[in-house]
Amino acid sequence: MPEPLPERDELLRIADACVQCGLCLPHCPTYADTGIETESPRGRILLTAAMARGRLPPAEADRDGALSHCLGCRACEAACPAHVDYGRLLRLGRQVLRRTMPPPRWQRALEWLLCHPRWLAVLLRTGDRIRPLPGLRSRIPPPPTQPSLPAFQPAQGRPRGRLALFQGCVASHWERDAHHAALRLLSRLRWEVEVLPAACCGALHRHGGAADRAAGLSRHLAADLRQRRLIALVHAGSGCHEALREAAAPLPVHELCAFLVRDPELDRLRFRPADARVGLHVACTQRNVVRAPDAERVLLERIPGLELCAPAPAACCGAAGIEGLRDPQRAARRLTALRDWYRAQAPDVLLAGNLGCRLHLARGLAPSGAMLEAEHPLAFLVRHLA
Ligand code: SF4
Ligand code: SF4
Repeated sequence: MPEPLPERDELLRIADACVQCGLCLPHCPTYADTGIETESPRGRILLTAAMARGRLPPAEADRDGALSHCLGCRACEAACPAHVDYGRLLRLGRQVLRRTMPPPRWQRALEWLLCHPRWLAVLLRTGDRIRPLPGLRSRIPPPPTQPSLPAFQPAQGRPRGRLALFQGCVASHWERDAHHAALRLLSRLRWEVEVLPAACCGALHRHGGAADRAAGLSRHLAADLRQRRLIALVHAGSGCHEALREAAAPLPVHELCAFLVRDPELDRLRFRPADARVGLHVACTQRNVVRAPDAERVLLERIPGLELCAPAPAACCGAAGIEGLRDPQRAARRLTALRDWYRAQAPDVLLAGNLGCRLHLARGLAPSGAMLEAEHPLAFLVRHLA
């Protein structure tokens, strides 16, 4: 008789909440692609429960990648009438899989690099010779060269309170436009902002089942936050939202667009007109984890004359954490319908709040190996600030 899994009770508690109604199935992109029950949320819940009960060994539960293929988009969770905590089930299930089926070397190297953001930028600048990450540079452009962020941004006028801006690991280099834009906007709205040092929240480690490393990163961030006197933590990446929310608790955590769109002082600001057609991609995590699917659109609508196009309903682009790196062909197939839609719309620029989605889309939508112009919605918005 095998030893019970440490995650057994929690996995079964979550799985037992599923009433097998199937209402989540039409929302699941992998089920839409395959029509196979084991590639659906309901099927994955059953497989995970069987694994937790010791009836299926992990390798058998994940046969043909049934559990590994899950994109973690959480569309099933948002649609579930029984409020099944699918995100937690997925994380715990991946922990179990990882113990018996260690990830490839390149994934472990990437996870290490994310914990060391300076090394990540240096290595990516050196080109395609990074042996543990073959071909990565051809899929990811070098980071932009904007100056680093100040440690503190004062409020313009009487401060309303002090926020912390989480700049992340990869995002501390690749999202500088968005972070500079956020500081400018927040300052105009009379928020003081402390900028946290570059660090990883552990979201990708959680997604890949590396629970210990994720917990270490979470503790590190929590210790840093405890030393500061803040009213909230803000960030520009919906993919980090849940990891940050758990690390920072009880400090409130807000994705920046969701935070700004609710700020009544935003009405004081004016934006210059833009004669542009803009494609907007709303990430799965913005819709299903932050649960602010309209925040980016509503903010951008403050720019007079802007023509916005966004697919309805919004769809997963396939980037899905490291899924786009782990299985590029599958991720590219996932992108096909979205790519055709955006190409038909012919936007001048593509806006996407999630860095992983943006890089994946910019590469997939551009013709023959080029990158389409793409940026964070906040960077675009602030360039039109009057
Ligand atoms: S996860 Fe929720 S929506 Fe899906 S089958 Fe179970 S109870 Fe129904
Ligand atoms: S998280 Fe997304 S891909 Fe995974 S089962 Fe749920 S809907 Fe399907």
